[in-house]
Amino acid sequence: MKKILITGAAGFLGSHLCDRFIKEDYHVIGMDNFITGDKKNLSHLEGSRNFEFIEHDVTEFVNIERDLDYILHFASPASPIDYLKIPIQTLKVGSLGTHNLLGLAKAKKARILIASTSEVYGDPLVHPQTEDYYGNVNTIGPRGVYDEAKRFQESITMAYHRFHGLETRIVRIFNTYGPRMRLNDGRVIPAFMGQALRGEDLTIFGDGSQTRSFCYVDDQVEGIYKLLLSDYNLPVNIGNPHEITIKEFAEEIIKLTGTSQKVIYKDLPLNDPMQRQPDISLAKKLLDWEPKIDRAKGMKITFDFFKSLTEEELYKSEH
Ligand code: NAD
Ligand code: UDP
Repeated sequence: MKKILITGAAGFLGSHLCDRFIKEDYHVIGMDNFITGDKKNLSHLEGSRNFEFIEHDVTEFVNIERDLDYILHFASPASPIDYLKIPIQTLKVGSLGTHNLLGLAKAKKARILIASTSEVYGDPLVHPQTEDYYGNVNTIGPRGVYDEAKRFQESITMAYHRFHGLETRIVRIFNTYGPRMRLNDGRVIPAFMGQALRGEDLTIFGDGSQTRSFCYVDDQVEGIYKLLLSDYNLPVNIGNPHEITIKEFAEEIIKLTGTSQKVIYKDLPLNDPMQRQPDISLAKKLLDWEPKIDRAKGMKITFDFFKSLTEEELYKSEH
């Protein structure tokens, strides 16, 4: 049985990846320090013979006393609210944490895939974004702590590949959504859905003309799975190219949720990218992958998840 270590296992993507690899009959070791994650995301795996969990901060030396075939490094705050609240930890998990996991992969002769992001393109001047675009990031802006941590993460990963011959994979994840997102993580989907459920107006930042392209979690997980098993070591975009403005998106959510609330406008956060859409030609060619779940279907499943939360969860404003 293949053994895989998944960091960030108690988070949104990490927990779905644990499920997927258990389904594929891997032995999964989940690791997390719960800084933005939730034990509840893994509660259904308690007692599973193919799953074990280690509570650990990956910025500290990572010790695993068994062989490993694969490592997925997904630990990192991922929402703008989170990484603005814990900027130093964000920089540390992308740099020191990645260094520790690359060292572990080298010691275990394991293949490692790291979770990079469309944020490496910053506020992009090339549209849609292709993997060969170097990006437009403000190093010292508020989002720099996340963007630069992820850019460093890519650099050190390629250095381990080139210098040590380590088997590495880099996925550049574009906005992904689905069940188990944290309602109060500030990302636009939980924000709008939470507001609709609480009977509050939907907060659009800026004039809502900025765009995003939302990928359903099962499609994302499938892309990551295929990339891990591929033989390609340069970055690959995984996301859904169907682009929408945030204003149109708010209208879709109002229709889906049936809320009688309206939209209100707030200031656009500094360096908030104006446009984002993945070019997924590479993933299509290399992995024979493309997203299958359209926004209407994915959003309905996600809204059903948020509707199933308790009143206490719905009104909890702090993590
Ligand atoms: P999340 O916040 O739900 O999950 C991240 C997990 O990492 C949490 O459980 C958190 O507790 C854990 N973690 C953070 N720092 C840690 C540390 N030092 N040690 C151990 N665990 C730590 O976020 P997510 O949306 O699931 O994102 C997962 C990964 O995917 C991140 O690396 C993120 O940058 C990347 N990503 C996500 C998206 C997206 O749309 N969801 C887009 C681009 C990139
Ligand atoms: N956004 C918004 N209202 C909110 C939360 C977010 O208008 O309540 C906007 C945000 O400014 C950004 C887009 O929605 O332009 C996506 O934000 P998110 O935090 O989900 O992801 P990211 O900016 O990292 O793509």
